[in-house]
Amino acid sequence: MSTTHCAIENCRTTILNKTSGISFHPCPQSTEMRNRWLKVLKNRCSMLDWAKSRICSKHFENKYFDSHRRLRENAIPTLFAQQPKLSNKSMEHPKAPKSKVDRFLNKLTQAELTADIKMSMARLKEPINLDDFITDDLRCRHDTPVEAQLWLMVKKQEHLNNRLMDLVVQTKKHVEILEHNMEEAKIAKRENDQNVESLKYVVKCLQEKHATLEEQIEILTAVESR
Ligand SMILES: [Zn+2]
Repeated sequence: MSTTHCAIENCRTTILNKTSGISFHPCPQSTEMRNRWLKVLKNRCSMLDWAKSRICSKHFENKYFDSHRRLRENAIPTLFAQQPKLSNKSMEHPKAPKSKVDRFLNKLTQAELTADIKMSMARLKEPINLDDFITDDLRCRHDTPVEAQLWLMVKKQEHLNNRLMDLVVQTKKHVEILEHNMEEAKIAKRENDQNVESLKYVVKCLQEKHATLEEQIEILTAVESR
């Protein structure tokens, strides 16, 4: 996030390279407008900070500007270059998938995949005497029935998925903690700033007092020397 670059992904407008007529605009203050902005921007900004991010005027229709080219309160960014959205981009593999299965898999969400694996697991019956077919390094012996091989594969996949989901939950928690810490740091900074301000005021008062005292001393010295 930056105050000098447009926050829209793929937009290259910056404070430095902008042509005349292009302006930079902060995000709205009200929760209602922020929610409306979020709907259109969530897949178009890799990072959106309500306080710092700026959106350039290329993304606003003319109707959202008043006669002084000021952005109206109800303005919503609606103009974007024809580029793939972030969500699609992150779902795509670096190389375009060739098979039908790959294409379908790419469309599935993590939750859908997990549910699918769980369902497959529920449909498959644990093979009898499975232990006899499995080696110590969790592989199948060459004479293992196909059903048992499949069962083991899906079981491994399920296990992996559970671990990944645990990681996702953990990461989410970490993000929450980080956000909380950031919020606390912000509050501490604000309090600090306030303290600095009041100290500055005290210093100013003391300086004035000092000046008054000096004047008084001058008067007293003058009276004394007379
Ligand atoms: Zn822009």
